[in-house]
Amino acid sequence: MTTIASNLQAVRAAISASAASAGRNADEITLLAVSKTFPAGTIREAFAEGQRCFAESYVQEAIAKISALKDLAVEWHFIGPIQSNKTRPIAENFAWVHSVDRLKTAERLSLQRPENLPPLQLCLQVNISDEESKSGVAPEEIGDLAEAVAKLPNLTLRGLMAVPAPGDDESVQRAAFAELRGLYEKINRMGLHLDTLSMGMSDDFPAAIAEGSTMVRIGSAIFGRRNYHEREA
Ligand SMILES: *Cc1c(COP(=O)(O)O)cnc(C)c1O
Repeated sequence: MTTIASNLQAVRAAISASAASAGRNADEITLLAVSKTFPAGTIREAFAEGQRCFAESYVQEAIAKISALKDLAVEWHFIGPIQSNKTRPIAENFAWVHSVDRLKTAERLSLQRPENLPPLQLCLQVNISDEESKSGVAPEEIGDLAEAVAKLPNLTLRGLMAVPAPGDDESVQRAAFAELRGLYEKINRMGLHLDTLSMGMSDDFPAAIAEGSTMVRIGSAIFGRRNYHEREA
């Protein structure tokens, strides 16, 4: 078995084990393979092992891989920071975007989503426990942003995403994920219909699953360590 095949098998088994110990069905949890910095051939290899959802963080790099892999039925997710001048290629090439944190970005994606494609599936990124990071809307502002974004055409607001500050302590990890889940529940009580909690990465996905994650975004546990030398700025 290749390294990617055995890593994928191990990650799937770990997701199932975390779901079982939380009393959840593993079918409720989608595995996104985060393929940023890895070449198209690596994605092809994971696809051959049954992986269908892939996530990318850098627009230019992603577009090159998407066009090289046109022959595969990949579901592409964008999870990186979004600059205003990069919304069009995102609107035109991805099925999902997880990293929207401003109304202006959502408005541009809505306007630029091609009419012949299904609505762009959207998660709003919340800044949970990471004071250093400039990404993500403040928890106090998420309700207003969600209400405004839910009204836009050509988009479907699906849920919330967060990248909490890294740390090994599982109770700290769980507290951050529980905070995101609380915001998700609050927004659903406002009458919106979110069904997606995009939370959990290679080092913290068991805690995220324990707190209700429905999409885990896993890179290094599948593909190995990333080498950032060639990434775009
Ligand atoms: C890179 C990245 C991941 C994957 O991180 P790993 O630790 O390699 O699993 C998940 N989410 C986001 C937003 C990322 O940028």
